[in-house]
Amino acid sequence: MEDLHCKLLVLGGGPGGYVCAIRAGQLGVDTILVEREALGGVCLNVGCIPSKALIHAADEFHAVCEAGAGHSKLGISLASPAIDLGATISWKDDIVSRLTGGVGVLLKKAGVKVINGHGRFIDGKTVEVTTPDGTVVIRADAVVIATGSQPVELPVMPFGDRVMNSSDILALHDVPKQLVIIGGGYIGLEIGTAMRKLGAGVTIVEASERLLPLYDADLTRPVANRLKALGIEVLTKTLAIGMSQDGAGANVEAASGETRTLPADKVLVTVGRKPLLSGFGLEDLHLGMDGAFIRIDAQCRTSMRGVYAIGDVTGEPMLAHRAMAQGELVADIVAGKPRNWDKYCIPAICFTDPEIVAVGKMVHEAKAAGIEVTVGIFPFRANGRAMTLDRDDGFVRVVARADNHLVLGIQATGAGIAELASGFALAIEMGARLEDIAETIHAHPTQGEALQEACLSALGHAIHI
Ligand code: FAD
Ligand code: NAD
Repeated sequence: MEDLHCKLLVLGGGPGGYVCAIRAGQLGVDTILVEREALGGVCLNVGCIPSKALIHAADEFHAVCEAGAGHSKLGISLASPAIDLGATISWKDDIVSRLTGGVGVLLKKAGVKVINGHGRFIDGKTVEVTTPDGTVVIRADAVVIATGSQPVELPVMPFGDRVMNSSDILALHDVPKQLVIIGGGYIGLEIGTAMRKLGAGVTIVEASERLLPLYDADLTRPVANRLKALGIEVLTKTLAIGMSQDGAGANVEAASGETRTLPADKVLVTVGRKPLLSGFGLEDLHLGMDGAFIRIDAQCRTSMRGVYAIGDVTGEPMLAHRAMAQGELVADIVAGKPRNWDKYCIPAICFTDPEIVAVGKMVHEAKAAGIEVTVGIFPFRANGRAMTLDRDDGFVRVVARADNHLVLGIQATGAGIAELASGFALAIEMGARLEDIAETIHAHPTQGEALQEACLSALGHAIHI
């Protein structure tokens, strides 16, 4: 048995944990990172990166198929497109290994010791790690819990056989003929759209009244329209209540007033994720909880002195960039810097078709907070760049205080607009007013001009509409 001591121990090497460890190492904090699987966590290995690779491949294939079917308005034609999903998955795996390998190099460069094994709390300052080479006991002055989350399982259709979670479908080598997806949230819609573009028949079963209930109906309407145009069947206000399966396939029972049987050769369950809090002695620390998540304060401190928590274990939104920001914050604090969580916004992007970007307050949220707002909207059908990309569905919307024009929120839906999210967030973090954005020269022709026009619209004098 090996005994180690360090100033900071990070449990979990996902985007929260590895960023925390790198920053701490850079700041000269003696740091150990414990990870039982691959560095990069869910995000790099089976989440953000693999899903976006699959979505990109599906988009490319779909465009080629449209041309093959003589549907290209651009005058492109070709014969018999085909996709080898196995080759696509190898390409995706190569991206993942380049990124996870890169994380390893960055940790080494920052002087972080990485231990590959399953960590288990002995007490709030001591973690025992089971590694392939034996047991290591690490005592630390400060500990960060960054163990992430796992998919929620439905009791009526446990994972296995034909029932997949998001990790399973991102490793498939054949496109399913008929895919039934339970849950029309982030993952169901992103992967469902990609699978349809790759050739699968897709049905989405969603319990709520509409897809992506987190966003308002104006933002999700273009996505619903596109799903319909792609031939994806969407059943809202519908619950999956059971399933039978045999060698030939599965039959999902879906209830919405009456019960319908949905045949499938694969079923994908994406009804949310839950924090990973069991199996490593955490229960014995009796930390204060906030519902299902670990309760933290504005410095990511838990109820136990010297124990911090970051990322998906700490609640919504369960997003990689939130975990990373928390990781940096904790590293700074452990290194002795005065830091607090003082963010105005956490951008969210749904990589659907079209994409949805939501930053800061939506109209209903501002109103619910008692703020009088002015709203500006600019549609992509009046944006030259969107037309040249042959996708002019969607819009940019800006929400500002009516009294002083401080921008509170920016949302958009449109093809390929994910990259606008950083500019939206920057405007809000820097306290931009409508006039600041309206008077900034935006390059032409770009989809970004729609933000400038939305601000002009809120001020009552849009140029191009
Ligand atoms: P995780 O990434 O879950 O990492 C936790 C790590 O801790 C894991 O590597 C695990 O092996 C390790 N661990 C757990 N317990 C122990 C233990 N006892 N000992 C040692 N190691 C342990 N977010 C976005 O922002 N954008 C996206 O586009 C996006 N797409 C997604 C797509 C999919 C399909 C999924 C599933 C998620 C997606 N997410 C996305 C969410 C994102 O992946 C998570 O928010 C993010 O990974 C959370 O980071 P984390 O560091 O909290 O935990
Ligand atoms: P989600 O919370 O986004 O969506 C789950 C959906 O399932 C909801 O719409 C819910 O109403 C529905 N649902 C729940 N129980 C159901 C049932 N029994 N029958 C039918 N529908 C049911 O969850 P997810 O798609 O699993 O994604 C998990 C998390 O991963 C997200 O919340 C997000 O934090 C993260 N994620 C982010 C991105 C991104 O940033 N682009 C992409 C993927 C995942």
